[in-house]
Amino acid sequence: MMNTSTEHYHQLARDAFMPQPGRIVEIADMTAKDRYFRVELEKPLGHRPGQFVMVSVMGVGEAPISISNGPGDDNTLEMVIRRIGRLTQVIHDLKVGDTMGIRGPYGSWFDLENFYGRDVLFVAGGLGLVPLRSLIVPVLAEADRFGKITLISGCRNPAEELYCDQLNEWTEAGLEVIRLVDCTENMPWQFGVGLVTAPIPKLKLDPGKTVAALCGPPVMYKFVIAALGARDVSYNNIYVDLERRMKCGVGKCGHCQINKIYCCQDGPVFRFSDLALLPEAL
Ligand SMILES: Cc1cc2nc3c(=O)[nH]c(=O)nc-3n(C[C@H](O)[C@H](O)[C@H](O)COP(=O)(O)OP(=O)(O)OC[C@H]3O[C@@H](n4cnc5c(N)ncnc54)[C@H](O)[C@@H]3O)c2cc1C
Repeated sequence: MMNTSTEHYHQLARDAFMPQPGRIVEIADMTAKDRYFRVELEKPLGHRPGQFVMVSVMGVGEAPISISNGPGDDNTLEMVIRRIGRLTQVIHDLKVGDTMGIRGPYGSWFDLENFYGRDVLFVAGGLGLVPLRSLIVPVLAEADRFGKITLISGCRNPAEELYCDQLNEWTEAGLEVIRLVDCTENMPWQFGVGLVTAPIPKLKLDPGKTVAALCGPPVMYKFVIAALGARDVSYNNIYVDLERRMKCGVGKCGHCQINKIYCCQDGPVFRFSDLALLPEAL
């Protein structure tokens, strides 16, 4: 027979893995393989910028997905999901009114206290704009509490750009948005061509005042951090949002381990100076 503390432990374990139903209220295609989902939740999410949820479809599986809306809108969850394999294909086949399982929010977050009073530089590569949006939204909502706000957003080609309308709105609202593609591939494109590192050497930037938040493919970090380092931005003021393959989201399974840390619990958001001694991090 289980004693009370064992029962309590089992209950906690069950709760930790128990999803709540999320009803899809809006779906929109962002690119050929990226689909936007707005989901209504029964219980408030209470998330912070940069956190993620575990999204499941019964009988198929579960995956970590970044939250793209800013905090505050608690019963709503916005996500952009790229069709890449079995689960994401099934999620793409869901319709408005269907339900998916949501548990979380999980992981560390971008703490706004570290950004107040500073110039803020966001660097987003591809899908990295999705979690960064959950930080950009609250920063813009209180823009007078920050210095200069700049976003460098890059993707492979014009057809892969996410949140195009939102980028236009942010530009109209006065945010400096530098939009880049690796290559136009002969598609119409009125913005820049080049990698997200390209504008950094010429950026008007006060290194002592700047804090940077980066999210993109693994290969991006090394080069962006080197470019920021060359402009004397301190590693203490560079935050990175790292994705690792993860299963449980609660530091149990070890899939996302980087040296001694678990990306799902200690991350996905890290101050770069805390990662500098972990050889497997970047
Ligand atoms: C913290 C975090 C946040 C994420 N946020 C988002 C998001 O906002 N939107 C989004 O579309 N995706 C996001 N992902 C990635 C997403 O979890 C995977 O794409 C998903 O698990 C794939 O599931 P699947 O069953 O469709 O693919 P599978 O059938 O499991 O895999 C298909 C192919 O993709 C590869 N693959 C699967 N997952 C990953 C991964 N994490 N990294 C590299 N290769 C992988 C597999 O090796 C395989 O080749 C995030 C991942 C993490 C860790």
